[in-house]
Amino acid sequence: MPFYPPEQIDLINSYNDIVEVVSQYIPLKRSGRNFKALCPFHSEKTPSFTVSPDKQIFHCFGCGAGGNVFSFIMRRENMTFPEAVRYLARRANIELPEVDSRSASKKEHLLKLHELAAGFYHWGLTESKTGAKARAYLENRGIKDRAIKSYNLGYAQPGWDSFLKYAGKKGYKPGMLLEAGLILDRSKSDGYYDRFRDRLVIPVCDSRGRVIAFGARVFDDSKPKYVNSPDTPLFRKGNVLFGIHQAREAIRECGEVILGEGYFDVIMAHQEQLNNIVCSQGTAFTEVQAQVLKRYTDKVVVAFDADQAGLAAALRGLTVFLQKDFEVRMVLMPEGQDPDSYIRSSGVAAFKKLVAGSIPLIDFKLERLCRMHDIETDRGRLTVVREMLDTITQIESAVLKETYAKKLAARLGVSAGAVWEEYRKQKTPKLSRPTLRQTPEIKVNKYESRLLKYLLENDRVLSLIKDELDPEAFSPPLQPVIELMLTMIRKGESPGSRSLMTALREQESQEIVSGLLMEQSSEEIQLAEAAEIIIDIQKKLLRAKIAECRKTVASKDVAEEETDAILRQSMRLSGELKAFPDRIRKKMEL
Ligand SMILES: [Zn+2]
Repeated sequence: MPFYPPEQIDLINSYNDIVEVVSQYIPLKRSGRNFKALCPFHSEKTPSFTVSPDKQIFHCFGCGAGGNVFSFIMRRENMTFPEAVRYLARRANIELPEVDSRSASKKEHLLKLHELAAGFYHWGLTESKTGAKARAYLENRGIKDRAIKSYNLGYAQPGWDSFLKYAGKKGYKPGMLLEAGLILDRSKSDGYYDRFRDRLVIPVCDSRGRVIAFGARVFDDSKPKYVNSPDTPLFRKGNVLFGIHQAREAIRECGEVILGEGYFDVIMAHQEQLNNIVCSQGTAFTEVQAQVLKRYTDKVVVAFDADQAGLAAALRGLTVFLQKDFEVRMVLMPEGQDPDSYIRSSGVAAFKKLVAGSIPLIDFKLERLCRMHDIETDRGRLTVVREMLDTITQIESAVLKETYAKKLAARLGVSAGAVWEEYRKQKTPKLSRPTLRQTPEIKVNKYESRLLKYLLENDRVLSLIKDELDPEAFSPPLQPVIELMLTMIRKGESPGSRSLMTALREQESQEIVSGLLMEQSSEEIQLAEAAEIIIDIQKKLLRAKIAECRKTVASKDVAEEETDAILRQSMRLSGELKAFPDRIRKKMEL
């Protein structure tokens, strides 16, 4: 990872006013000393995203996101810290020393390699002789030049080692190519061969448009239809949404995202200027993907082929959206059609009409089940109820749950009571699933964070008691913050909000501190209270240590000499327990 000296970071920080930077992305409204906006990191109706020009930090009281201008860019642009540093340096016209290639991270090497590969495949499609059949294939599918260009589509040569040789000439060793998943190891003999051969190649990009993987399709009906990149340090299948970098602004604007089934649904729609569409890569949607989409919208419209055999599985794959409180709607696609084929045959306007006429997932599923089972019979009705409850139980909102249970009962002509009875039978404890990140206020010990807030505002006090505070005494999320503040004080630096934020690298710590700094201090804590909190925290730690000593002595397998040492330590700790409160009060001049 490239290393930039702290002075450089501070300089870049001071030339990038957080209000200006954030304003480039979202409109900020002044509110007292601060600015407010709808949070760009979770969806909300009333603004809880706050930016402080004085402290140069942001914090969202809704989802807990927070930090300084670097963290904002990292989140918003999906960048690493060094990338955000370079980005903001460019923005402020500050020149950074070129980082030599050896110290660039492996990730950056892999990104360069993927860029090289994408260029090679794209050349293969657009210029090589062998690429003619790929060009004909795309033309046949109605894919035009502008889509070929904007999706950087490619063709992998038919030989066993075209790319291997090409990359070799560019200085890439097989080890790196293996790690990137671009070549494979020959199992029966020495050597390697290209993973993608004689296929149409579709680059998969991250949300910033950088190529991180490939999907490659055959031209006929042979199997496998697609060969995809394996998981690499850049790419984890199930974390990436195909098309997201081309779609994210449009999703924000439209307030909803269309989920297609395959690459060509996305490419075709995009070619026809319908941009708010993405797809997962042939897998069920994952929590990570839902989380990514939640940044932009909380409405998904699903456009799957309605009569395919795998629809039931596809529907189950949508529960992750219900759990994350998305509104999920289904497009009623004509039999045997997907967005790609439908746009090709009927035009994008007709497809948009279908999207506009989408119906809630629950209604869709209910109608489908009623067609599949005979609801005139008890058995049929019971099957439908059970299948529907599978979905209804996943819904987060109690009100919606109730609404759908009633709807279900009405449709089947049974009593709502019967449905609830079945519900209680079916309701198994939900699998433990990570809920949305809680706000730091809930997670962190309130008492300790009060003290931390006080110390953040009074580094004079902090320097007075710097030798008395033991970071270990604080609960885990606060430990690194206290530790860092103490280090800064000992080095003679002042841990003001700006420098502290720059030094804190952990997202969690940044969020806690930005939250504390942003809080309105209606009731300022006093020196005396701060002293008592410190005393309390320290006492707890000392008592725990003493108890530990006792336990060790009480256990049988401790040598006699050792017992003596432990007893002495225990006495020393007890003495400290007695002396500590007065010493603190005195130091704080009480
Ligand atoms: Zn938020």
